[in-house]
Amino acid sequence: MHELSLMEALRDLALQQAEAEGAVRIAVMTLRVGSLAGVEIEALRFAFAAVMADTIAAAAVLRIEVVPAVCRCGGCGRRFAALDGVCECPSCGAISRELLQGRELQLTSLEIA
Ligand SMILES: [Zn+2]
Repeated sequence: MHELSLMEALRDLALQQAEAEGAVRIAVMTLRVGSLAGVEIEALRFAFAAVMADTIAAAAVLRIEVVPAVCRCGGCGRRFAALDGVCECPSCGAISRELLQGRELQLTSLEIA
């Protein structure tokens, strides 16, 4: 389950940021997760609970914003939703290799106390 190692990296980042701001606890952690990021939301939540135990984020709430995948067509320039990673342009039928968003896995905000 690679969600566990991803979440460990996010935890380290969050703890570093919280520490830099002198926080005693992390209340809320918000992540942006692309629909094509290759992670399971449920697995992320499970990993979150596991890796945050015994840290100042042990009681933190995890918020996940799912970012829909969007492609841009190199042929006609149209932007369209890339369902299941298929990037076939609905206007001209060209296959786009340009994914504008949908692979993110980022820590976007922390609420600390
Ligand atoms: Zn097109």
